[in-house]
Amino acid sequence: MTKDLWSDNYASRANGLSASEVRALFAVVSRPEVVSLAGGMPFVPALPKERMIESFNTLMADRSNLALQYSGGQGDPILREHIREIMGLEGIKSNVDDIVITTGSQHGLDLVSSLFLDPGDVVLAEGPSYVGALGVFRARQAHIEHVYTDLEGISPEALNSTIERVQAAGKKIKFLYLVPNFANPSGVTLSANRRAKVLEICRKHHILVLEDNVYGLLYFEDRAPDALRSLDEDGVIYLGSFSKILVPGFRVGYVLAPPSIREKLVLANESAVLCPSAFSQMMISEYLSNNDWKAQIEVFRGEYKQRRNAAQAAMKEFLPDLTTTNPGGGFYLWVDLPKEINSKTMLPRAVENLVAYTPGTAFYGNGTGQEYLRISYSYPTPENIRVGVQRLAKTINEELSTVKG
Ligand code: PMP
Repeated sequence: MTKDLWSDNYASRANGLSASEVRALFAVVSRPEVVSLAGGMPFVPALPKERMIESFNTLMADRSNLALQYSGGQGDPILREHIREIMGLEGIKSNVDDIVITTGSQHGLDLVSSLFLDPGDVVLAEGPSYVGALGVFRARQAHIEHVYTDLEGISPEALNSTIERVQAAGKKIKFLYLVPNFANPSGVTLSANRRAKVLEICRKHHILVLEDNVYGLLYFEDRAPDALRSLDEDGVIYLGSFSKILVPGFRVGYVLAPPSIREKLVLANESAVLCPSAFSQMMISEYLSNNDWKAQIEVFRGEYKQRRNAAQAAMKEFLPDLTTTNPGGGFYLWVDLPKEINSKTMLPRAVENLVAYTPGTAFYGNGTGQEYLRISYSYPTPENIRVGVQRLAKTINEELSTVKG
């Protein structure tokens, strides 16, 4: 590492910035001989590129001066209309005025955190929770408090007792961060019954809910229960994205927030990026207006379901003694390892065996989670998923014989 001449000058919050374990893996997994079950890459080859080219040509022919210009800080009104319809598929009734377009939902996470988090504030999150969100909260010097989560999602009882414990210790809880549908990294979905209970508990304790729902429409059999936002308009900030249902490359996400919060979000958005990319927004609008986007989401569902099936079948074939979650949608399978194994220290052996995964430790703010790993099945072919899991099994067996001596 080169010496940092400016190390005395950083703001203290820069100490919270560190490369995530997923990011650090990217260099390794781009080697073609490695089967990557690590990063959650959307399967963009399934997109009809020729339709995208048509959208581009129409946009450039008809509205290039708008698409190539600065635009409003809240985002394109036509795209916001489309977003209203998309959110309606998950039971949400919204007003276009309450939607703010962001540069990916990751940016939405950052904007909300910039509005609410002071150093030392507490954020409640599922255990495990999305690594990219944990990174944002850490960068704001927040303390992450994980709440026990099982196959039905976050536990209402554990939520209540965690809130009481944290508040009794005199700490300020700013929000509960949830990925309620086909969660990253667990694949778990919060049951309808628990959704109502979680909201009731948060209302009682005056805690905002940050609902991150980027996978909700990617279900394989049954659709997920209605969004939490559909049950509570005042207490929930909702984050969505085009990254998984269309393209990540345009970097377009959105936030639906109660009006007072939305006003501040627009100001924070303007301060960060002036305006989200007009070009990206208008490309998406153009595509949505002239294509059967629901059929395209159906295509993605088929691709991911096939891959989920391949991952589960390979786990049964090569690692029949291990327990995994049973995702009804999304990109991820969460694997419970034999207790002797540490998924973080095992990773170099896996890479030697030409497979990559994400260690469970990436998904906890407190360094725990070594007894789990995340498999992402979204991008490799079903055949490569099988090969990857076979290599993972070899790695686990080698590791077990080493640790058991
Ligand atoms: N939330 C979750 C749960 C995610 O898995 C991701 C991407 N991996 C994001 C947010 C960010 O997505 P984007 O910024 O591309 O919308």
